[in-house]
Amino acid sequence: MSKVNENFLNLKDDYLFSKITQKTNEFKNNNPDKKVISLGIGDVSLPLSPAVIDAMHKAVDEMAHQETFKSYGIVQGYQFLIDKIKKVEYEKRNIFLDNDEIFIAAGSKGDLAGIIELLSINNIVGIMDPIYPAYVDTNIMMGRNDIKYFKATEENNFVPDIPNEHIDIIYLCSPNNPTGTVFNKTQLQDWVNYAKEHKSIILYDSAYEIFIQDNNIPHSIYEIDGAKEVAIEFRSFSKLAGFTGVRCSFTVVPKELKAYTKDNKPIDLNSLWRRRQSAKFGATSYITQRAAEAVYSDKGQEQVRKNIKYYQDNSNYIKQELKKIGMTIFGGTNSPYIWLKIPNNMSSWDFFDLLLNKTAVIGTPGIGFGNCGEGYFRLTAFSSKEDTKEAVSRIVDLFRKDL
Ligand code: PLP
Repeated sequence: MSKVNENFLNLKDDYLFSKITQKTNEFKNNNPDKKVISLGIGDVSLPLSPAVIDAMHKAVDEMAHQETFKSYGIVQGYQFLIDKIKKVEYEKRNIFLDNDEIFIAAGSKGDLAGIIELLSINNIVGIMDPIYPAYVDTNIMMGRNDIKYFKATEENNFVPDIPNEHIDIIYLCSPNNPTGTVFNKTQLQDWVNYAKEHKSIILYDSAYEIFIQDNNIPHSIYEIDGAKEVAIEFRSFSKLAGFTGVRCSFTVVPKELKAYTKDNKPIDLNSLWRRRQSAKFGATSYITQRAAEAVYSDKGQEQVRKNIKYYQDNSNYIKQELKKIGMTIFGGTNSPYIWLKIPNNMSSWDFFDLLLNKTAVIGTPGIGFGNCGEGYFRLTAFSSKEDTKEAVSRIVDLFRKDL
């Protein structure tokens, strides 16, 4: 008789976005004449930049000829892309990495799930709350049911305090999904110091790094002293260059980083990750890596930043207009996410229903990101400018009289 992995039965079956889709579809069926606008899903809407498209076409042509055809790739990633990442993302910030510390992958989601396979189930794991739900789900899939939560609330400006207990594996996400808030250098230094003292590992997810605008906010955790000894950094082209459907990312596993055996022997996680990838990952496609390389050309940088500016204008608009009617808003400056404090003490699902039924605008209920998300609502800047304006004006009309 086959036995199921019962860890999967501990997952909450109603994944946030499937419930949103179900409610939205119901609304659309009952109101076929209403235009529904989504400021809900954290996915880009602008097409790929011309520099990226050109590079992809060129790579496709290479695949068509015997002399330039590429078969199985290099698991770690092609050197041409690693070189560009080292230079543009890190050396510019005085961070020096070896070639074999950068691992190209097909999106951070897979690496964030995969990395925990290297770490014993006996570790104590701490995750920010509210947070991108995949961290919790993947830990439950591994059989971990006693996750500790770092509360991110209005009182601590959505930057959780350093724990006063021992945690082995620490998930940090900055700029944060969903709150849109960021760690400054001092705050991040405190976490690195904590991790060094406790021999913990920080899993640092910076998928939204390109949205950082403030000068005092670090773009990489390796800007912090000692971080190479304790942190793995996850970066993605998904939001940086609109690659959510193309799939490319990179993960930095420094050679200084160690985890320990039961008898305290330090083990190099860089080689362990390489070994894991060689068994489980078939490399990111050549065409995709050429597309990612093009992001770092002069034209690519200019075009990518133009798209980011488009989303930033949307988020500024949302913030500005909702603040005008007295709403309390967080995030949205160094992030495409606006974290709205729900008026009148409504629950986040009630607010979702109200907004959908009265304005046909979709957002994401805060509770979907963890208990500390209750009472808040996430709006995203990823829609078109026109839809964003229309959605905001409908929300403003609904609440102007109310607040
Ligand atoms: N990390 C965070 C915080 C995210 O919000 C997302 C996607 O929404 C990801 C990682 C996954 O990114 P990728 O598309 O690279 O898998």
